[in-house]
Order: sequence, then C-alpha cells, then structure tokens
Amino acid sequence: MAKKKYVYFFGGGKADGHGGMRDLLGGKGAGLAEMTNSGVPVPPGFTITTEVCNIFSSTGKAPVEVEKQTEENLRKIEKMMNAKFGDPDNPLLVSVRSGSKFSMPGMMDTVLNLGLNNVTVEGLARKTGNRRFARDAYRRFIQMFGKVVMGVPAELFEEAIAEKKKKSGVKLDTELSETALHELTSEFAQIVKKHTGHTFPADPRKQLKMARDAVFKSWNNPRAKTYRKIYDIPETLGTAVNVQTMVFGNLGNTSGTGVGFTRNPATGEKQLYGEYLINAQGEDVVAGIRTPKPLMELKKDMPVVYSQLSKITTMLERHFRDVQDFEFTIQEGRLFMLQTRAGKRTGPAAVKIAVDMVREKLISREESLMRVDPASLDQLLHPIFDLSECGEFCAVTKGLPASPGAASGQVMFTAEDAIKAVQQGEKVVLVRMETSPDDIHGMHVSEGILTSTGGMTSHAAVVGRQMGTPCVVGAGAVKVNERKRMFEVAGNTVKEGDYISIDGTSGDVIIGKMPTMPSEIIQVIAGGMKPDKSRAYQDFSLLLKWADSVRRLGIRANADVPTDAATAIAFGAEGIGLCRTEHMFFAEDRIPIVQDMILAETKEQRKKALDKLLPMQRKDFIGIFKEMKGCPVTIRLLDPPLHEFLPKREELMVEIAKLECRNPKSAKLKKLRKLLARVQELHEFNPMLGLRGCRLGLTIPEITEMQVRAIIEAACKIKKQNKKVLPEIMIPLTGHVNEMRRARQHVIAVANHVMEEQGVRVPYMVGTMIEVPRAASTADEIAQEAQFFSFGTNDLTQMTFGYSRDDAGKFIRYYLEKGILEKDPFQTLDQIGVGRIIEQAVKLGRSVRKDLKIGICGEHGGDPASIEFCHRADFNYVSCSPYRVPIARLAAAQAALKKKHGELDK
Ligand code: PEP
Ligand code: MG
Repeated sequence: MAKKKYVYFFGGGKADGHGGMRDLLGGKGAGLAEMTNSGVPVPPGFTITTEVCNIFSSTGKAPVEVEKQTEENLRKIEKMMNAKFGDPDNPLLVSVRSGSKFSMPGMMDTVLNLGLNNVTVEGLARKTGNRRFARDAYRRFIQMFGKVVMGVPAELFEEAIAEKKKKSGVKLDTELSETALHELTSEFAQIVKKHTGHTFPADPRKQLKMARDAVFKSWNNPRAKTYRKIYDIPETLGTAVNVQTMVFGNLGNTSGTGVGFTRNPATGEKQLYGEYLINAQGEDVVAGIRTPKPLMELKKDMPVVYSQLSKITTMLERHFRDVQDFEFTIQEGRLFMLQTRAGKRTGPAAVKIAVDMVREKLISREESLMRVDPASLDQLLHPIFDLSECGEFCAVTKGLPASPGAASGQVMFTAEDAIKAVQQGEKVVLVRMETSPDDIHGMHVSEGILTSTGGMTSHAAVVGRQMGTPCVVGAGAVKVNERKRMFEVAGNTVKEGDYISIDGTSGDVIIGKMPTMPSEIIQVIAGGMKPDKSRAYQDFSLLLKWADSVRRLGIRANADVPTDAATAIAFGAEGIGLCRTEHMFFAEDRIPIVQDMILAETKEQRKKALDKLLPMQRKDFIGIFKEMKGCPVTIRLLDPPLHEFLPKREELMVEIAKLECRNPKSAKLKKLRKLLARVQELHEFNPMLGLRGCRLGLTIPEITEMQVRAIIEAACKIKKQNKKVLPEIMIPLTGHVNEMRRARQHVIAVANHVMEEQGVRVPYMVGTMIEVPRAASTADEIAQEAQFFSFGTNDLTQMTFGYSRDDAGKFIRYYLEKGILEKDPFQTLDQIGVGRIIEQAVKLGRSVRKDLKIGICGEHGGDPASIEFCHRADFNYVSCSPYRVPIARLAAAQAALKKKHGELDK
C-alpha cells in the first residue's frame, strides 16, 4: 500500500504540491508551492497538511508517519541549504507558521528563528559575522517560543526588556548592546523555567515538534474560534503547518522586510501598494514600533530589488488571476518571497478590481461576478465619514450594525424634537430606547438612528435600512433617559443637542461630530453628479448589468412612497414587492383622521373619516404607479394593530390627571377620556397575535373598501392616460383559506364596482402574504384563492420560532455567543426550520396553481444567503429595501452561477 503523504516539500524550483491544494496545504502552503513551481525565489521548506491537524485535534498527537516524513524533508532542506539543524558551525534555522484554507490574520501562532540554542547561536554569529544580530535573534526566539509554545505571559518578557533598557539607559530595543541582549537571553530562559517548571528546550528537533503541536492547538484557541464564527469558516478545515528556512531582513542596511498588495485594497487602484522596513524582521512591521516606508520608496532604496519585486508580483497576479497580498524579505540584497494569497479588499475596491480585470482580459464576466461579496456593495451606497477632515476617533461603545453608513448629528430623543431641530436646519441623530411606527416621521428626517434595545429586525433596523438611514441598534451600554432627554454611556453624559456620530457599518458609537459626505454612487443616483463623471458609478452599474444577464430571480423593492419607488428604480428594481400602506397613515396631517376613523362609534362616522383618507391614499398610489411605469406593485392592505395609531395609554392617563387638576371642565378633558376609553378597549395582551392583518379588513370591511377603491381608482386614472399599471393587492397575515376567500371576494367586488364606475378595466391580481405557519401548511387550499404568495419571513420567523421580533434582541445575542443559534434568524433565513416550511408551501401552492407567483418581502429578501435559498426554492422574485436592490441583483446572479456550476447545495 502506498504510504500516506502528510508532508509536502517545496524548494529549488520544484514543489510536491501546487496552488490548487488549499484544502490540504492551507492558503500559505499552496501559495508557497505554486510560487516555487513558478520559479519565484522562495526559501525551501515543507508543509504538514491540515489533515494532520484534524488527527491531532481528535487524538492529541500526530501520526508516527508524520515524524518520519518530517525528518526526510528536513534532510532535503539541509542538503539544499548546505546547513544542518543543530549544527554548531552552520546551523539551519526555520520558521514555523500556521496557514489554513482561508486566511485568519493573527488568529493562530507563528515561531521564528527556531533551531537556536546556546551553541548554535555562536555558529550563527560566526556565519553572519554579526554577533549582535545572532544574540538578538536568540532573544527573540526564546521570547516567541516561550509565549506561543510554552504559554508564558508576554508581559513577563516585556517587563524584563523594559528593565534592561532602563538599566542600559536606552529607549529603543534596537539600542540594546550585544551584552545586554546576551544577559536578556539567560533571563528569558529563567523566566520560562520559573513560570513553566521546564527548562527551555535546547534540541532543535524537540523545539520543532513542540512548535508544530502548538500551531495545531492554536486552531482551537478562543480567538480563532470566534473569528471562524464571524466569517463562517468551517471548524473542520484545520490548519497546515509551514516549516521554512529562515531568511533575515535584519542583517544590516542591505536587508529588509515588507508586505504589499498588487492593487490598492481600499480603492482598487492598479498600483503596487504596501510598506517595508530596512534592517528588520517580519514582526517589526506589524508591531508598529518603527514606522514603515511606503513600498514606492524601495525603488530609490534598492532599485534592483524593487524591479524584481514588481516583476514577480505582477507575474503572481497574472498567474493567480487575482489581487495578491504578499510578504517578502530581503537578505543582504537578495529578495525572497515568503507568502502570496488573494488580497482582502473593501467593497469599492472589489467592484473596481472585478471590472478592471475583465477589461484586462484576466478573468471572465462570470468570474468577476463571483469576486465581489454582495453585502460589501453597501459600502458604496451609504454616507461615509469624511476622513480627510478628521483625525483619530474613538468609539465609546458598539451596538448591532443595523443599517450601514456613517452619520453625525445632534442628539434628539423624540420624533417631534427631531423634526423641530431639522426644521431649524440642524442635523439630527435620533436616540431612543426603541422606535415604534409613531416615530417614523422623526426617523425620516434624521441622519442616523441609535437605539439601546432591539435586534436586526427591530422596527428601527427595518425602517433604517428601508430609508437607507444609518442605524445602530441594541447598544445596551447606552442608558437612555428619554424623560430627562439624556443618555449615559461609558461614564459620559450626553444631553439633547450634543453631537454624536454613529457608524452603521461597524456599529460604532462616537461622541462628537464627524463630518460625512454622500458616496459617489448616491450622488449619481440622486442626480447630483453625471454618471459619466463617476468612474465608481460606471464600474458599479456595469457589474450589475452583467449580474442581470445571468440571474433568474426577479428583484423588487419594499417601498411605500413615490420617492422610495424612484430610488428603487434607480437601483434597478423591477417592481415593488411590498408597499406597506400603514406607513402612509402616519403622516402628520393624516394621523388625526386615522384616529377619527378608529374612534368612530357608528358606521357613518367611520365612513366620513375614510372618505377623507381616500383621496390621500389615491394620490399616493398614483405617485407610485407613475414611478413604476407599469412594473408590478404589490400593495398590502392595512396590517398593524389599530392601537399603533393611537396615543399610548400611560401618556393619556398622565395628561388626563394633569387636566383634572387644572381644568376639570375642559372639552379637551372630555375628548381625552373618550380617547382613553377606546385605547383601553383596543388594548391587547399580545397585539402581534391580536386584531391585525386580514382580521382587521374582515372585521372592519370599510377599511378594505376604502383601500381597494383608492388602489383601483388610481390604476384607472393611469390607464386612462394610456400608461401601463399593474397593482397586486395583497392580504396580510392569512392563516385560514376562509379568511383568504372572504377577503378576496370583497376585494374583487369593490374592484369591479370601481372599474364600472370609471368605465375602464385595469389588470390586477389578488394574493396573500404567507406569514403564519398554518397558511404555509395549508398552502394548497390557500393557493386556490390566491394568485400569488409573498413570504413575509419576519412574521413567519417570529411565529415559527415563537420569538417576538421586537424583543428577541435581548436574548439572541446571548444565543449567538453561546452557539445555541448559529445565526440571527431575523437576519438570515433559518433554512432548516423556517426554510423547510417555505419549501413545503411552495410545493403545495404550485400543486394547485402551476403559475403561482412566489416572492419574499421579509427582511431576508436582501440577505445574500437567503436569496440563494429563494433561487433554490424556485421563487419568482425577492423584494428588499431599495438600498439593498444592488446586493440582491448580485446575490441572485451568484446563486444562478452556482446552480449552473453544480455548486448550490441540495
Ligand atoms: C413580514 O412579516 O415579513 C413582513 C414583510 O411584514 P411586516 O414586517 O410589515 O410585518
Ligand atoms: Mg408581517
């Protein structure tokens, strides 16, 4: 039987592995192998596979075969380098580094200068003719090995260095004398002995084995685990261990070390980008003790090396067909490449690079679509902090990054105060414990929204995203006192009118003002900049055009007012998937009429109020239909519990109590008492499960009548102008087919009546939201009454899990931390539980109505993973907030491409 290969050699222009073996060799190992095979100068070494890590993690040791293969490979290096591990005159030194399939910067361990001991250090000194360098290398080795492998706290070494510098009367490590370094080495060895009870290992082979095992163990250290959770890296991958001949960047002024990118990772500009230090070892660049120089200066410092580096990295980029993030060391004028891998980049850079590389014929359009993380497109759309004008900033706390972008403004604690401040020309950040639909107008005028409670689908989060307003929610450390108009955070008191800044992309909350500006793309969308003046816009729209040519899913937007509809169209939406009509009721001039309608004691009184609302709603719909130019517009009939339109019970009681003292006979008091009585009547223990959704329209049919009339009258008006219009009337929260049947009959009756009155017929559809598990499990019955389904996955998630979407923020964070839940189900669809119910409903629905149109309009409609699910489950479209439309376009294209290449699970 062929013996199992656990160790892969690279060196001398030939490697056992290659760049396509990232699973087994990790990113670093595969990159080193590929570079070696391509003739790039790489110090020789070998990679112990990720498979060994997995065996090590489950059994606590590496297979015996690994030891044998390690020895064989060590011999190869020794031969190639003409040096020996542990040789007193000519010692071979190696680095030992982790490297998993996906880079996890700084999460796992590294040891440099391995192979040094009291004897070999002298050999190194003789070999290099540089005793100070050898002593420093040994000092660094004990320090690193002691910390990483033997678990000695870093401070113990740091304290000893500080003490030594003090005694020597110097400030910098680099100023320590050869003798001081020598003394430090023995002191470090004593620290190790004292702390661990073990002598520092002198045998290089023992050092190597210990370092290897420490790297394997570091795969499971808490920070690596957390990193994997955040970035969705599977636990099962394991890390490889790379053992590589040391080259030294700290051998004098013809040596150095640096890192770089083949293109600028922040902007995507095609330029060698990076930094380096002369006479330094790798960790000095990252440690920030010395300020590195920009890579361009290497051109002056070492022109030959620079030109070689530029050639090699250009070749590597062409070879790997992606931006490379590389590390190099120059040892006495000789360049060595130590790493190359695909470089991480910002959203704007990702778009530019993807489009540029197609232009350069480096990659295909399909590849370019897969190169951009759809979620990162957000970074191109939201206001950005204008960093040219501000220095360092420091966040006082962090909340959930609910709606991306940066915002600065004066703190206001109520919607009314926010409006007043804005009317006076101020910029406002609305800070509340949580927001409710009554705050909508205040939210609308605010630059940003900050709440101390709530999760990613809380009211503030949903509305913030829909409006494209930066929003941070669930910032628990922010203790809001709305009554006193102040909040406290991390020992600071912030009062009404004080400035704060929030970054909805990171969740940062900053005290003080940070200047912001709209992104270039938004300037173009809003008409403030011509498209041909913005290269960023051109790249962005070209990439999305390519996405449109491969996606199957339709993309719609959730929009309630004509301006949102216009934004959605500008972003490429093909229809409106959800128009929440209640948002139209909250306008300042309408709310008193809505309240009159609710408080009405007779049908006539109610009709009178609804008659006032009718022209207003009709106007809204005309505006939206005009913007949508014949694209489908799904309009949902009134959904929320009525008390949301009325003042809060407690507030009314306080006001009444005050009036009773001051003016017991006033008419206002009488009116307030009546209002309170109605508010109490409407009070529900579980309003989300109470009189809402289709239950409202069924028990108060006058509301449905007015809304359907407004929709159809508006549609008739458009039709009479010879323009196209396609309303889709949607019944909310259906749970039983009888609800749907009755609601539909009512809608049809009113629609027919109106069309007869108007003397014109318009096309329209009647369908339902699927938000209640019972509706999903009886979807075949419901589909007989519905022409379309739109999955309202906010409520469906709420009802399937039994988690209140407005309160879940309190425990979901804990659940995520403890691994009880992997993802927030209000943010990304729970495909196993809620998803299974959806798939079943799709099948049932289509079994009775083949052409049943199916979409999603919950928050998940803008989440790339959920969009992939919708593609798989054969939806017709997804609908999301206007600002997420570009994300959805790209995510839908990626889902189609994955399907085409057989990469979509299932
Ligand atoms: C839903 O429940 O998913 C939905 C879109 O409706 P709303 O968020 O308005 O309840
Ligand atoms: Mg709902």
